[in-house]
Amino acid sequence: MIRQKIRLGDLLIQEELLTQEQLEHALKLQKESNYSKKLGQILVEEGFVTQKDLLKVLSKQLGYEFIDLYGQKIDFDKLARYPLQILKNAKAVPFDEDEDYIYIATSDPLNYEALDILERTLMKPLKIYLAPDDEVEAIFHRLSILEDTKFIIEEVKKELHTEGLKKEGEESAVMRLIHLIIKDSILRRASDIHIEPDEKKAVVRARIDGVLQETFVFDTEIYNALDTRIKLLGGLDISEKRKPQDGRFSMTIENKLYDFRLSTSPTIYGESLVMRVLDREKALLRLEELGFEDENLENFNRIIHYPYGIVLITGPTGSGKTTTLYAALNEIKNIHNKVMTIEDPVEYRLPLVQQVQVNEKAGLTFAVAVRSFLRQDPDVILIGEIRDSETLNAAAQASLTGHLVFSTLHTNDAPGAISRFAQMGLAPYMIADAMVGVVAQRLVRKICPYCKKETHLPPSIYKIVQKYLPDDYTVYRGLGCPKCDFTGYFGRTMISEILVIDEDIAKLISEGATKFEIYEYAVSHKGFKPMIYDGIKKALKGITTIEEVLRVTKEK
Ligand SMILES: [Zn+2]
Repeated sequence: MIRQKIRLGDLLIQEELLTQEQLEHALKLQKESNYSKKLGQILVEEGFVTQKDLLKVLSKQLGYEFIDLYGQKIDFDKLARYPLQILKNAKAVPFDEDEDYIYIATSDPLNYEALDILERTLMKPLKIYLAPDDEVEAIFHRLSILEDTKFIIEEVKKELHTEGLKKEGEESAVMRLIHLIIKDSILRRASDIHIEPDEKKAVVRARIDGVLQETFVFDTEIYNALDTRIKLLGGLDISEKRKPQDGRFSMTIENKLYDFRLSTSPTIYGESLVMRVLDREKALLRLEELGFEDENLENFNRIIHYPYGIVLITGPTGSGKTTTLYAALNEIKNIHNKVMTIEDPVEYRLPLVQQVQVNEKAGLTFAVAVRSFLRQDPDVILIGEIRDSETLNAAAQASLTGHLVFSTLHTNDAPGAISRFAQMGLAPYMIADAMVGVVAQRLVRKICPYCKKETHLPPSIYKIVQKYLPDDYTVYRGLGCPKCDFTGYFGRTMISEILVIDEDIAKLISEGATKFEIYEYAVSHKGFKPMIYDGIKKALKGITTIEEVLRVTKEK
């Protein structure tokens, strides 16, 4: 093993990734911690450098190459036989072996002592590669899951071998395993639970705050039992494995009833199952709980109280559009108006609202439904999504005949909705007359309140957002703790921009202005603030991080 004396701070300064001032600050902190922390760790924690930059510099200096751990076929059964604590101390994952070497990936190549111990324990020379901390931790995480579920898995196997899947009640081991998977996901605030088979294993991943995290790993035998039992639960045909199917079921977790929408999809290794968690309480958020900043909340409240016109919510899939629409309906529905919706599918049932589900096979499309609604004397119409010009025309017609229409569209920003409508064939004067406002939104993860700490912006990020920042500012990050599964994030909120179509903007639209002209005009004359401003504002308040805002707004 190479044992090089590395002066990490000097190296980083040489590479212009760190300033002398930052180094001195970090060294001071290290002294204050009584040298219980390593310099590299402090530099990353303080936000002076990213771990990736740190490893890049070390890779150059030590001559170790990077390895993509996700791309390696890691034999977990074999890995489980290595002494876990020694691996953890060295932050090292053995991923391959030949006659001469054991190949390991580590995120802490300067920890010579721990690596020495590992080498002696494995009794074979190590060939060292580098991998980021989160990838190494993900492998350890999977190992500990395997350890934790060993017992219940053995139960399921015993059951399979002695009595097949005959036992169908709540008490069967398969059912207890399903309950465990769902409960674990819900307690982690998951919105979706994925069960995905590959060649040898099936992986369970939960979408938590918008990001998938691996939570369980099973072998094929267990996967087959799970697949069958979950399909039964969702009321699906268990013999049908070649076609996608959809179903629903409910389950009580910690005394609360949850609904799940189940969908299956045939993949080359078997069926992939996705369970969407439908949390009724979440569906009925009030406007104030969505995360609109004051000014945006005021504007949104104004446009949803117009007597007629189209209110659009735009953003990519998973940006919380449906939640915003439902909150808006919730705000304006009352005993004196009639609200009708056409959705694909109906996710949450709302009191006092007539909800219709799209049924393409029966010819009930968005457009057909909207035209039929017009004969039902509604005040408000919600169209799940405007995907084609037929639906757009029906929406415009509804709006121009005195109805308030809510819908969603896939565009990146609010002004983009106008040009999209034009591309879909709606005449500019119609767009100008029909639209009252467009909201563009994204969801950002919130900093975990249990491990939140002031931090610094790495230079690479500072450069991008400099123009939005005041001279004096503070930013925060979550260091990672058990409460947030060591992600540093806990829950999500929304960032948004709202383009109100007033007379001036409508005039521009009807004159055929481009989306850039509309954007420029709205910014300079109407106080329109692009989404990034909302995001930065929330970062400066310590609600989220700049990195997270950049991730969802893709500002470069
Ligand atoms: Zn935390």
